[in-house]
Amino acid sequence: MIQTLRKLWRNPGGLHLAENKDISTQCPSRQIPLAAQLVIPLLQHAGEKPKVVTNVNVGAYVYKGQTLAVAQSNNSVNVHATTSGTISAIELRPIAHPSGLHDLCVVLMPDGKDAWGDSRLPAYPNYTEIDPAILRQRVKDAGVVGMGGAVFPSAVKLNVRPDKPIRTLILNGAECEPYISCDDMLMREQAAEIVAGAQVMMHMVKPQECLIGVEDNKPYAIAAMQAAVDAAQDSRIQVVAVPTLYPSGGAKQLTFILTGKEVPSGGRSSDIGVVCNNVATARAIYHAVVHGEPSLSRYVTVTGNGIAQPCNLEVPFGTPISHLAAHAGGTTPQAKRWRMGGPMMGITLHDPAVPVVKAMNCLLINDELEHTQAAMPCIRCGRCTDACPTSLLPQQLYWFARAKEFDKAKAHHLSDCIECGCCEYVCPSHIPLVSYYRFAKAEIRAERTAKVKADLARERHEFHLERLERAKREKAEKLAKHKEQAQTTTDDSKKAAIQAALDRAKAKKAEAAAQTLSEDTTA
Ligand code: SF4
Ligand code: SF4
Repeated sequence: MIQTLRKLWRNPGGLHLAENKDISTQCPSRQIPLAAQLVIPLLQHAGEKPKVVTNVNVGAYVYKGQTLAVAQSNNSVNVHATTSGTISAIELRPIAHPSGLHDLCVVLMPDGKDAWGDSRLPAYPNYTEIDPAILRQRVKDAGVVGMGGAVFPSAVKLNVRPDKPIRTLILNGAECEPYISCDDMLMREQAAEIVAGAQVMMHMVKPQECLIGVEDNKPYAIAAMQAAVDAAQDSRIQVVAVPTLYPSGGAKQLTFILTGKEVPSGGRSSDIGVVCNNVATARAIYHAVVHGEPSLSRYVTVTGNGIAQPCNLEVPFGTPISHLAAHAGGTTPQAKRWRMGGPMMGITLHDPAVPVVKAMNCLLINDELEHTQAAMPCIRCGRCTDACPTSLLPQQLYWFARAKEFDKAKAHHLSDCIECGCCEYVCPSHIPLVSYYRFAKAEIRAERTAKVKADLARERHEFHLERLERAKREKAEKLAKHKEQAQTTTDDSKKAAIQAALDRAKAKKAEAAAQTLSEDTTA
């Protein structure tokens, strides 16, 4: 057991689950040959979809790292070619989504050269001399997003408000979900790059300390990270072993365990002076800033009893998951269900052509079918409440979601549910609770979107009416002004004519008088 000298806090709820991580950590991670075709989705992150750049067309040759699509807002990042080759299509393809949704992808036929051309961005090895705002822009340009699953644009997270200074930077290496071991292997093999990434982030957010939280079931990762911190001789950074308990790897949960501070409901960790990033994100930031390399690949765990040789692979984004399975020894007769992520929070994939994306930390292939046991009525046992790590009332949320009482679900903090599945796991009635929460959240989101749209339409209509009214008013004012001017002009010219007539009469009279006087004088 690994001891830590730092005081730790205990989260409510949580579960001790069968880990099943060892099966994929028996050999070092490795790279595999490029697939014959890469399918790169434009939207791989939370936020707005980037726009395809003008010189990226079907038939165009692109270099590794070349920008395929550019961010259209702050809440977006660029997308890049993950190897060199020719674009064969820009079209809708199935993506990693439980519904089998299709979305816009750039299809790339690799030429096998993996050539960068001049696609690398300028490197900042002396990044401490560079303004943090420039480095944030670099992180965005390089397409770096949170790789722990949230896929939130990292540049936004690293944009610290002056009124909310950051005290603690947390690197999340907890990796609590069963089967997943990609962060474990990354920490064992790339610890120095992760620590260097932490130092880049520290330059950007200026925290007083950086805590690297790792569950204590990863002794090799903890040792490797500690050695890297010692080598960096940076006293601000501390590796902290945290007790193994699902879901300690949730950002809010890990923040509480390490700092004792709770992220407020509906708030962000920056509200309590914390920024939390996954260890893989730290490595991507290091590559983006120090080497000018966009985010092009990640470690993925390929595991489960449906795969012959469970392992960890470093693969370019866009690689079809069938290619991963083929290079992990192929599938076994147990390969019934393909999931992105672990057994608790993963989503089922319906198409082996689905590509690896930035959010994909694990491809779990096994024979566990979804909800094989029929749901029975809730017996109000309260086990779900005991297991919930966010102190919610899962049973109550279930009733509200079922009755479509979404306002009540909102009032009971449904938005704080991290969909960890603990409640569902312990439910003796086998009720698919998380599906109910996802349904309720989707309905609330749709309601909110519809309201925003309606508000926008109303505002547009009111603005239109106001513009018509203003135009009418301005026209009337103009008309009145013209009339007044015309009136003034008429009056003035009349006066001038009268005056001229009077002057003429006066002159005539004076002339006549002068003539009479001259005749009298002559006589
Ligand atoms: S665990 Fe299941 S049966 Fe028990 S209270 Fe919760 S929802 Fe009901
Ligand atoms: S899925 Fe949501 S409600 Fe259920 S235990 Fe996790 S956080 Fe609590």
